[in-house]
Amino acid sequence: MKIGVIGGGQLGRMMALAGTPLGMSFAFLDPAPDACAQALGEHIRADYSDQAHLRQLADEVDLVTFEFESVPAETVAFLSQFVPVYPSAEALRIARDRWFEKSMFKDLGIPTPAFADIQSQADLDAAVAAIGLPAVMKTRTLGYDGKGQKVLRAPADVVGAFAELGSVPCILEGFVPFTGEVSLVAVRARDGETRFYPLVHNRHDSGVLALSIASTDHPLQALAEDYVGRVLKQLDYVGVLAFEFFEVDGGLKANEIAPRVHNSGHWTIEGAECSQFENHLRAVAGLPLGSTAKVGESAMLNFLGEVPAVEKVVAIADCHLHHYGKAFKAGRKVGHATLRCQDMTTLKARIAEVEALIKA
Ligand code: AMP
Repeated sequence: MKIGVIGGGQLGRMMALAGTPLGMSFAFLDPAPDACAQALGEHIRADYSDQAHLRQLADEVDLVTFEFESVPAETVAFLSQFVPVYPSAEALRIARDRWFEKSMFKDLGIPTPAFADIQSQADLDAAVAAIGLPAVMKTRTLGYDGKGQKVLRAPADVVGAFAELGSVPCILEGFVPFTGEVSLVAVRARDGETRFYPLVHNRHDSGVLALSIASTDHPLQALAEDYVGRVLKQLDYVGVLAFEFFEVDGGLKANEIAPRVHNSGHWTIEGAECSQFENHLRAVAGLPLGSTAKVGESAMLNFLGEVPAVEKVVAIADCHLHHYGKAFKAGRKVGHATLRCQDMTTLKARIAEVEALIKA
């Protein structure tokens, strides 16, 4: 089976690393000449709106999936005429736009911060009056890793903020005084069977994921599964979806969903029976799903900007290196390490060892 992937970054690369043993081959459509997934499959170097190349991709593959959600809706609609596309155009339409996403949470009874649609500075002023400060303003589309957002703490921060974010449609959200951030990675098959990985504790540095630790028997697991299950059913979703939550007042508030494999699920490559990448491929290909059970205690640390010396990373016991083969650039996700240990005490010690390398 040949899988077409829109986007050829590290997520596509890790998908191919998981799918190749299943007998799958891959074609990646990505405009970047140095798209790092090209080491694992065919690279169709074209813009996401280039219909001739989209048609080429559709003709070559059995189905198409995505490694990022900011794909133009027209691209998905165009591809869907020729080839099955998972997740669906509708799932992407909702997940790529924070207003649609939050409105869906509200409709499904999933708690989320107060929010308002912002189309102008006047809308922003009215929303600040209603929601109060502090608040977080975010572009409705194209924001990621803390980009396209601004925390408004004082009235002076509100002045001109709409123009500062590019005068594009935004939302304003109430600021959540969270005690922690967790995510749930789930997979849903074509026949509706759904499986959930354990909740993951996430630490972000400057809006970018730094550390994920897989939990054991988290008291909020069942609640998170209930919320995520509602979304998967509503969207008749096929594939892996990640749902990010704030932990607050002993409960959960929805932050956002990603309709794809997710950075907070990278630990599953070594830390779960079947990784998020393999399970995504199993789901879209109509294969039985694999076990989402955890194997030991597991964590993931991102390498931003550069990967520490390979010999030092692999010298750490229980440590697995994933080097994406990308050019090093400040702030860029260029690799990660997964730690898989017998117990939590050892895991914490290993995390400290990797963090020391990152800081060195
Ligand atoms: P996002 O791109 O929406 O995931 O936001 C990136 C990070 O900003 C989150 O992981 C939080 O650490 C922080 N953040 C986003 N929205 C809020 C909010 N409403 N209240 C408090 N912190 C937030």
